[in-house]
Amino acid sequence: MNEKRLLLCCDMDRTVIPNGRQIEHPAAHQRFKNFCSLPGVALVYVTGRHQNLVRQAIQSYDLPEPDYAVTDVGTKIYHIVAGQWRALNLWDQIIAVDWRGSSHEQLHRHLCSLTELKLQEESKQNTFKLSYYLSLQADQEQVLSQVAERLDRLGVAASLIWSIDEPEQLGLLDILPRNATKLHGMQFLQQQLGYRHEEVLFAGDSGNDLPVLASAIRSVLVANASDEVKREACRLAKQNGHESALYLADEQSSPLGGHYTAGVLQGIGYFIPEYRDQLKQLECAS
Ligand SMILES: [Mg+2]
Repeated sequence: MNEKRLLLCCDMDRTVIPNGRQIEHPAAHQRFKNFCSLPGVALVYVTGRHQNLVRQAIQSYDLPEPDYAVTDVGTKIYHIVAGQWRALNLWDQIIAVDWRGSSHEQLHRHLCSLTELKLQEESKQNTFKLSYYLSLQADQEQVLSQVAERLDRLGVAASLIWSIDEPEQLGLLDILPRNATKLHGMQFLQQQLGYRHEEVLFAGDSGNDLPVLASAIRSVLVANASDEVKREACRLAKQNGHESALYLADEQSSPLGGHYTAGVLQGIGYFIPEYRDQLKQLECAS
């Protein structure tokens, strides 16, 4: 008999953590926790946060303990057993190839003469994540192309991830190994753990989730995502030929609405009919 199982991969901020401007339906959070505790459901957090910030969020927001965590925007993967976090060293070895064995400190030495770049705090760096602040007043395009040129000269294959911390009005530049993204991290886990395509589901809300949302991996975009992200996710999924693997949660389809964890549950029901009965039972139980 084929055991039903699911690798449920969730972004954290504004996906399972209700820290956006919308309100989470009070019943959604507990129902999500109950769903994650079902036998056969393995929970993975896929996030830009580093390990300590993930653990803090689990405590502060009373989130379910994950089985795995893809953290630091994909540069670290942990297996969590009985509260113990164990880094998957094989992942470090795989992504190390892109940086030709260099660490973030070594790459920083080649970039530190670019005066527009200000190194972020030590807690935001790791072996394969080099992060800078870059003023919004700076010519970002020019700085990014200088960074890319220097890394190219070293033969380093890197992804330059530019984003804006809106509340703080800060420009953020993450330099990562080219294959160390949320998408690659999830694909690695799926392969290592032997999950089939139909046994994996992702939920996210924002720009750095787009590569997964537009991939062949079945994905849910929670309803609190911005209209811009919704449009872009649809455009990219269509462009990649994966429209049918993307589901946009909405406020009308469920009594719980579609924000945050309610959106995740909606997506599970949409993609995996085998779980609909259990979702119904959780509804009756709460
Ligand atoms: Mg998010």
